[in-house]
Amino acid sequence: MNEHDSEKISWVLEGMNYESTDISEEADLIIFNTCAVRKTAEEKVYGQIGELKRLKRENSNLVIAICGCMMQREEVLEIVTTKHRHVDIIFGTNNIHKLPQLINNYEKTGKTVIDIVEENREIDENIEANRKYSFKSYVNIMYGCNNFCTYCIVPYTRGRERSREPENILEEIKKLAETGCKEITLLGQNVNSYGKTLERDYSFADLIKDIDKIDGIERIRFMTSHPKDISDELINLYANMDKLCDHLHLPVQSGSNRMLKLMNRKYTKEDYLKIIDKVKSINPNISITTDIIIGFPGETEEDFNETLELVKEVGFDSAYTFLYSIREGTPAASMEEQVDNKVKNERFQRLMDVLHPFGLEFNEKLLNKTVKVLVEEVSKNNEKILSGRTDSGKLVHFEADESLIGELVDVKINSVKTFTLEGVLV
Ligand code: SAH
Ligand code: SF4
Repeated sequence: MNEHDSEKISWVLEGMNYESTDISEEADLIIFNTCAVRKTAEEKVYGQIGELKRLKRENSNLVIAICGCMMQREEVLEIVTTKHRHVDIIFGTNNIHKLPQLINNYEKTGKTVIDIVEENREIDENIEANRKYSFKSYVNIMYGCNNFCTYCIVPYTRGRERSREPENILEEIKKLAETGCKEITLLGQNVNSYGKTLERDYSFADLIKDIDKIDGIERIRFMTSHPKDISDELINLYANMDKLCDHLHLPVQSGSNRMLKLMNRKYTKEDYLKIIDKVKSINPNISITTDIIIGFPGETEEDFNETLELVKEVGFDSAYTFLYSIREGTPAASMEEQVDNKVKNERFQRLMDVLHPFGLEFNEKLLNKTVKVLVEEVSKNNEKILSGRTDSGKLVHFEADESLIGELVDVKINSVKTFTLEGVLV
């Protein structure tokens, strides 16, 4: 979500005749787009802004701005405005369209400009994005979240759930397809609940069926799905829709029903396993990945072992694993029995040991098979090697000419590791 917001910011700035640079010393404007989901990310931001004091001393024309979820938190705003006075512009997640005005205001007055409120603003359909790749793109389908999982800051920083009108989404995707885009990733905090704020009856599955009809789009991905809202209508699409990628990212967070309840996730381990069974019976080749939180307040050895058991039962190909991070203002922050960091780290290692063999097992099934790969870029370590992704989202390295970037090609896999595959172009 943040990456795509940065692409929008870049589009707005290009409209003001800014050009991007990788060299901070050359910049007239530096913007930090922040994430508030975990504390470690916030701490990094403070460290990096601090380092900019020197640049600001050397170049008094340099403008420094911070935006994103972190800025929607009052506590952060207080820290930035008192301890990091060299920051010139502060704006929230809903105010990207106002950036030209904010920069002008700062340049006119020389005073710190802050623009944050407007929490549940109407969706602005006039912002486009400077996309990193022409052949694959993110597309927002909804904003905000109504779920209030007890550990999560997102509903407080991104406001209430609102869905974009299908016509606007389809129009955006048609335009992308016309300019060579082959793969789209639909973005929302809970895409399975797409459509609930629309006046008419139109579901996430309806949206996917309409996108499927767009010529030029070859791959449809989405994130993130909430287990409590996933519908049979959506699961059934995995049976025979070629464009829908063989990948489902379905965050489970924990395998303990006690934890799931405390997290306010509104499903049980049994509900989750039922969904997985359905999906796998419809599409046995599907890659299933997840998010897991380790050390939610009150998590006992028994609770954690239930997570390990669930991981073994599902056999996730990979997972984003997070040490629980206290987010002030959320219900879990004031729960007693916070888990010690040492215990969290030790559980993290045990989870990795259980998870990794499944990733390798999934990849081993691809050995000696020919897979379709969307070629993304030249490898960072070797200019003769290209990298791209399979339908199931696995990273593949193979030797070929860079003119193939952006194409869908066939690659025969001849070596597999836990996180990557290697092969030859066929
Ligand atoms: N809307 C998505 C996820 C958004 S945040 C969903 O519900 O699936 C991405 C992931 O960050 C979450 O799935 C969760 O695993 C993790 N996360 C969120 N808040 C966290 C916290 N306070 N500490 C640790 N991990 C957290
Ligand atoms: Fe956060 Fe839960 Fe909403 Fe995801 S569904 S953004 S984890 S509150």
